[in-house]
Amino acid sequence: MLLSQPGRGLSSTALGTGIPGRTGIAGSDHSTWLVIGLAPTLVSVTSLLSQPADRPAPSQARVVIIGAGIVGCSVAYWLTRKGWRDILVLDQGPVFRNLGSTSHAPGLMFQHNNSKTVCQLAMWSVDTYLRATPGTTAQVGSLEIAHTAERWQELKRKLGNTKSWGLGAELVGPVEVQRMVPVMRTDDLYGALHVPSDCAVRSVALCESLAGHAQADGAAKFYAGAPVTGIELKDRQIRAVLTDRGRVAAEVVVCAAGLWGPILGRMVGVELPMTPVQHPYVETSSLAPLRGETYEIRHPIVRDQDNDLYFRQRGDRYGIGSYRHDPLVVSVDDLPRNDHPAVLWFTPEHFRQSWTDAVGRFPCFAAADLTTKFNGLFSFTPDGNAILGEVPEARGFWVAEAVWVTHAGGVGRALAEWLTEGDAGVDLREVDVNRFHPHQVSPAYVKARAQRQYVEVYDIIHPRQQMESPRSLRTSPYHCRLRDLGAVFFEAAGWERAEWFGVNESLRNGDEGPGRSGWTARYWSPIIGAEHQAARARVGMFDLTPFTKIDVSGPAALDYLQSIASNQVDRPIGRITYTSMLTARGGIKCDLTITRLGPERFQVVTGAGTGPLDLSWMRRQVPAGAAVNIPDLTSARCFVGLWGPRARDVLQLLCEQDLSNRAFPYLTAQQIHVGSIPALALRISYVGELGWEVYTPTEYGLQLWDSLWEVGQPFGVTAVGSGAFDSLRLEKGYRLWGSELHTEYHPFEAGLGFAVRMGKGEFLGRAALEAIVARGPKLKLCCLTLDDPAVVVMGKEPILAGEQGERVLGYVTSANYGYTVGRSIAYGYLPIESANEGTRVWVYFFGERHSARVSGEPLYDPENARLRDL
Ligand code: FAD
Repeated sequence: MLLSQPGRGLSSTALGTGIPGRTGIAGSDHSTWLVIGLAPTLVSVTSLLSQPADRPAPSQARVVIIGAGIVGCSVAYWLTRKGWRDILVLDQGPVFRNLGSTSHAPGLMFQHNNSKTVCQLAMWSVDTYLRATPGTTAQVGSLEIAHTAERWQELKRKLGNTKSWGLGAELVGPVEVQRMVPVMRTDDLYGALHVPSDCAVRSVALCESLAGHAQADGAAKFYAGAPVTGIELKDRQIRAVLTDRGRVAAEVVVCAAGLWGPILGRMVGVELPMTPVQHPYVETSSLAPLRGETYEIRHPIVRDQDNDLYFRQRGDRYGIGSYRHDPLVVSVDDLPRNDHPAVLWFTPEHFRQSWTDAVGRFPCFAAADLTTKFNGLFSFTPDGNAILGEVPEARGFWVAEAVWVTHAGGVGRALAEWLTEGDAGVDLREVDVNRFHPHQVSPAYVKARAQRQYVEVYDIIHPRQQMESPRSLRTSPYHCRLRDLGAVFFEAAGWERAEWFGVNESLRNGDEGPGRSGWTARYWSPIIGAEHQAARARVGMFDLTPFTKIDVSGPAALDYLQSIASNQVDRPIGRITYTSMLTARGGIKCDLTITRLGPERFQVVTGAGTGPLDLSWMRRQVPAGAAVNIPDLTSARCFVGLWGPRARDVLQLLCEQDLSNRAFPYLTAQQIHVGSIPALALRISYVGELGWEVYTPTEYGLQLWDSLWEVGQPFGVTAVGSGAFDSLRLEKGYRLWGSELHTEYHPFEAGLGFAVRMGKGEFLGRAALEAIVARGPKLKLCCLTLDDPAVVVMGKEPILAGEQGERVLGYVTSANYGYTVGRSIAYGYLPIESANEGTRVWVYFFGERHSARVSGEPLYDPENARLRDL
């Protein structure tokens, strides 16, 4: 659908061509901007929100939403659609035209994202906007253009993502691009990624329309001029919000305050890691080739990412946004306290190169003036993703922050679903408010990472590309030893983890499988293959310290764990249980090992990155008054994985206890001494070999490493990095949370039925599993092997069926080369009817289809003989 052009009472400012001197919103430019873009919708917006300032707000509401930007309006809309009533939306502004980021967002919606979740939120947004507010949303499609070979390759990769995520897209050549946007220069293009369902919206009109729906039959009320000045808590539970218009008692508060989110967060003791960043946006005067245009937008929206630019038609003009400048971060405490706090002075020096590039791409701009120009503000987070969910510090306080217009419709839907059903229905781990590690909310980190996110927003980012700073925030006690072995460090959750070790170059024997080139060869080394083989043939030492270690203890500990773990945890002291914890819908919330250390004491170990998420979720599940302690011992304990057929030989030299298979069987734990070092040893392995995880208090860590290293020399002990770790675990079919496992999949689909005990009694998610068992799983996690072992993919690629690969069956969750089995491996969920062993499929990678087959799994040691019998 095309938007008809709004009225344009232009008061053109004669600026000349190119970039004039410093101008900004304080002058006539800003009023011009308001008139151009937003005037047609302001009247009715005003009618929605401009309450007389002295009109008292209600003294109570079931839900208070703070902020009437696109996010607050979308949440209100979706909550009312879900049947919620008694909703109060408060905004500090007289009307929302002047205050927040939404008021000046040009409203381009590019749905594609490398993250499945973020893409899903955008697709839901398009659906929301088209259904609820068709007159505000123009589905004109988008073009991401490529004028470099590298970008063209990247677009092929993106096309793969769009197939994986179910977003219709195609690659088109320059002629087709020219047809769609005749005013754009295309002769130097390789082509473009065309997403026909992408949109441009009128952001303020969209708010108005969503708010209008929410207000129908009085379900929601909107109040302007009502700044929230405080939040009342009792026993960490929301009681009320305090405003200039009085106190409003509330059960639920949703913070959708945009730039001001961190100020609201502080009111409940939460640091929201986000910061406002300036973003230059301009609009041209009337363009000769477009004169007489009757539509506000007819051309697809355009991204020229190699020049950090985006473009949208505005009737007979064009709007241009640029990320090509040094990032301009603003402290949230320094936001202007005037009528236009989200708009700052235009800084021409930050737009000069962009204007040159824009004119190069759209030659008709050369004869135009810039009639509108300003630096708008919107928020960036350390990882570039939104922040959603209920904060542990204040029950009932939900945040929906750092959300783009592109995702706000989907965010409203997910949040409403989450509040209504206790589960958003989509895997939100990448946007969950609880995902941050303590250092990630520090002002220095937030500023450094937000700046980087801004700079890289359009860059081609390899999935394994490393951030350069801040680094070395968390190191294990034997970090110095890893460094001395030539570790190539990768960062994860602030930890420095060795990916491979330079010293192991000497282990290469030419038998490490096929080499790699291009994209898959980056951040990779053939040394990984040598380390893999050393662990299979001899013994490897793995630094596992970054994994999250949680102590669960107290009189109610067993009952509590039994109520959330799907496996049987009530086992003898010293037994290790692998289990998942499920959502009420049966989705996999966490995947972890639980070791019983005493009648009322358990050690829980989960992934490094997921620690904060798992911890906050586990703590939330403790019944009121239950006597359970759940301290995080991650920093207090380090541990080494000693894995490989010679592991016992090494450890036994330092240990008086009998480590034989009879005395210390698989899946058991014992307190031992490694020399003089007190340690907890778990006979378990994530790589499928004999061995132990050896835990000790952090201060003993260096000595632990040195002792094992020294006695291990005659057995060929090798330091092994995360690169080999991943290849070893994939051969063995071990699932990785966040890749194979997350809330959208349940244990029976994921092949984890062996770790579910339906008969043990009640546990969270059990009822949902019963229903799933009754109807039978629809998907199955499958192991694929590629016919050409030299083709190694990376994850997220679509899995296709049909002679031409015309049907998308699923996507790759993890992939790597198996150096022992000599196969290129990819895992992915397939419809149950396509999951039979031998079924032929295709994996689409960088524009090419590679044939693969469903294989029996695991590929390595399916009998577990190497784990149990050695
Ligand atoms: P806002 O729109 O800022 O709304 C927050 C509201 O909260 C405000 O109205 C404020 O008054 C209110 N508030 C704050 N504190 C209080 C308080 N204490 N009490 C009561 N009320 C309070 N996104 C896209 O998807 N596509 C684009 O093309 C795009 N282009 C952009 C271009 C520019 C120049 C800029 C600056 C941003 C752009 N964005 C774009 C980003 C997008 O505009 C924002 O991410 C989005 O509008 C944020 O919406 P919001 O509702 O969270 O915040």
